[in-house]
Amino acid sequence: MKIVSVEAIPVNLPFHEPVSDAWGVYASSNHGIVVIRGDSGEYGVGEIALAWFGGAHALCKEVNDLWAEKLVGMRVSDLSLVTSLLDSFCSFSKRHLLAKAGVEMALWDLLGKSLGVPVYELLGGKVRGQIALTGGISMGTVEHMTASAVGKVSEGFQELKLKIGLDEDKDWAALHSIRRAIPDSVRIRVDVNMAWQDVKKAKRIIDRMTTLGVSIVEQPLHSERLSDLAWLRTNIDAILLIDEGIWDVRDARKHLEMQAADMLHVYISEAGGIAASKKIFELASLYEMDCTIGSMPEGKIGAAASAHVGAAMLNLSSHASDIRGFTVYREDVVNEELVISAGSLIVPDRPGLGVTIDFAQLARMRVDQ
Ligand SMILES: [Mg+2]
Repeated sequence: MKIVSVEAIPVNLPFHEPVSDAWGVYASSNHGIVVIRGDSGEYGVGEIALAWFGGAHALCKEVNDLWAEKLVGMRVSDLSLVTSLLDSFCSFSKRHLLAKAGVEMALWDLLGKSLGVPVYELLGGKVRGQIALTGGISMGTVEHMTASAVGKVSEGFQELKLKIGLDEDKDWAALHSIRRAIPDSVRIRVDVNMAWQDVKKAKRIIDRMTTLGVSIVEQPLHSERLSDLAWLRTNIDAILLIDEGIWDVRDARKHLEMQAADMLHVYISEAGGIAASKKIFELASLYEMDCTIGSMPEGKIGAAASAHVGAAMLNLSSHASDIRGFTVYREDVVNEELVISAGSLIVPDRPGLGVTIDFAQLARMRVDQ
């Protein structure tokens, strides 16, 4: 099957309620929906997700104006060749990896649909049928964060992820309050989003938090500070999870060589797609390391792609992943529901990524450029 068209359609996905973290507060999220049509008449879908700073719409324009004509005529099953071409478009900016991921995702979807198999079958087969998820606790008052934590636990989440980093005393108060309000069996991790500056202060805060059972600290320092992260890793009991520091496999290699991570948080979007994410998992496996999966947050299409990668990777951590970003949106462009049951995402078993587009909805949500 040959590619006959590639279109990246800019949309805004509105949040149910504003989302906040150490970087700011957001009301909606910029995305691009990639539709690739083959000469069989079938189509594949992908998603360009860039919640922060509104860059996804500009990436759509680049895909439509510069990339599409080079892809048309290529064979969908020549994924290595197409991926290599897409890599050449990403030489000068990591942001292009997000566009590459959207296009590449659509190709895997189209290939899977044309063969009648789920994408995880093309990645080596299904290791697991569901993926444990973190319950996300947004920054807020201690009371609000505690109520949110209790709610997440009652929904079935067994691992909570607290956004912290701006106010040491308030972070401690929130953590303390949450720990007392939920069962001991529920794991807690904290995500600092690079907000701490002093490595020794970071160690002191983490040491204190581990007394309350914090098991994972996510990106406590700036992503470039690999030496400090390596020092911190050997001087704390908690697992050091690297998020902002990991985009593609080259970033992963740097952290692994510098021993600056205990675990890597892989984003299908930031890695540059499904095959690139698989490459990071496989590299980490050479270091006996597990990975978790992050979320930009993508909508349902990107979440489905993440689910297929997570389903097929042997070294997906038993610690929870974050493939729940799609739940924060009031609207999406997909016909199917993705199911979260007892705190785990059920991997879709339909062909391709297991999602199809509601084209009328897509037309309504389309943003003019
Ligand atoms: Mg994070």
